[in-house]
Amino acid sequence: MLNYKTGLDFAKSKDKNDPIASYRELFHIPKDKNGDDIIYMTGNSLGLQPKSTHAYVEQELKDWAELGVDGHTHGKNPWLHYHELLTENMATIVGAKPIEVVMMNTLTTNLHLMMVSFYKPTSKRYKILIEGDAFPSDKYAVESQLRHHGYDDKEGLILWSPRKGEELLNYEDLETILKSHGDEIALIMIGGVNYYTGQFFDLKRITQLGHNYGCVVGFDCAHGAGNVNLDLHNSNADFAIWCSYKYLNSGPGSLAGCFVHERHAYNKTLNRFTGWWSHNKETRFNMRDDFDMLPGAEGWQLSNPPILSMAAIKASLDMFNEVGMDKLYKKSKQLTGYFEFLLKNLGEDIIRVITPSNPDERGCQLSIQVLNANKSLHNKLTEAGVISDWREPDVIRCAPVPLYNSFEDAYKLVERLKFILVKE
Ligand SMILES: *Cc1c(COP(=O)(O)O)cnc(C)c1O
Repeated sequence: MLNYKTGLDFAKSKDKNDPIASYRELFHIPKDKNGDDIIYMTGNSLGLQPKSTHAYVEQELKDWAELGVDGHTHGKNPWLHYHELLTENMATIVGAKPIEVVMMNTLTTNLHLMMVSFYKPTSKRYKILIEGDAFPSDKYAVESQLRHHGYDDKEGLILWSPRKGEELLNYEDLETILKSHGDEIALIMIGGVNYYTGQFFDLKRITQLGHNYGCVVGFDCAHGAGNVNLDLHNSNADFAIWCSYKYLNSGPGSLAGCFVHERHAYNKTLNRFTGWWSHNKETRFNMRDDFDMLPGAEGWQLSNPPILSMAAIKASLDMFNEVGMDKLYKKSKQLTGYFEFLLKNLGEDIIRVITPSNPDERGCQLSIQVLNANKSLHNKLTEAGVISDWREPDVIRCAPVPLYNSFEDAYKLVERLKFILVKE
């Protein structure tokens, strides 16, 4: 077990000995009202901007200005193949093979495209299982798919909910649901890391369970990609989707990721929505050929993609590639462990962390309940130069991101929280 200590000296010495501490300098850190670095704890919502993003985007603006349409073929990074420059690094981050990964569209769009192919309801098996506290967009998306196929969106939805008085989901309960309803469930769609509690699920275990009962299994990894080791290929999931603007620092509304397991790569019988970008690259511009499906995840693309957004993704993924995921996960576990230690020191009668205490069952986010707190506590934190995230009814979510947050950030946050609580 790690030996954490209270006191600013300890935080400073951890930062000094942190092999990836210098990456903080490569990000724009917003300033507080005194002109000091904000304590930014919302990388789980919008990751900060790498300083290099500017040059990556500028390169494409330059090629557009100087080459016009020829940028597609003669730009420094020809736009026709630009998305391929992202694939390998993205695949490494989520633990997939390159053929299984593509960056395209936005997260909820990709979820729908995946459900077009992988939600194939029949009169006997048409239900969808999600987390009781799924992210709203995911819930709305699956409900609309149920309605689209003519099913009732309440009757057709099965919720995996926490036990009374608990927040975290229990695998035994999932087994119980599957034992009694497994043959009615067409699709299991779970957030890889729950956005509210920060619980990182055992993707392999859920997939295996689902497959045992004949269900298709997909994951929304919006809170997992760049945060935890998803190991998507080995999880054996049928599909996964994620956005790039949270832990992947690729800018507001930037393009999303999509994973389709290799075993589906050449399956032409899967129903899908298509466009010219799902068509064979070699003959795409003949324009008059019959549809010839691209194999792998790329075969789900529809349109020629927004290059400026992809340039921002490339800037970020190149940085992840340089750091290496092992170093990142290692620091993440230490930093979040330290943050948890400091919070617990405030007194477990006042502060309760609802995120799992096992470092293998969480990423960097801690979801914190403060006794008798309401949104005014969050507002006071904001006033004190801490950007965190408030979720009704009583949870503050904080994500110390290993790429740019420091041990000193965690220390200062807890000091400021303590100051606010003592004053009350
Ligand atoms: C952030 C997030 C989304 C957002 O969806 P967009 O399509 O990118 O707007 C959806 N689902 C989950 C689980 C998320 O965390």
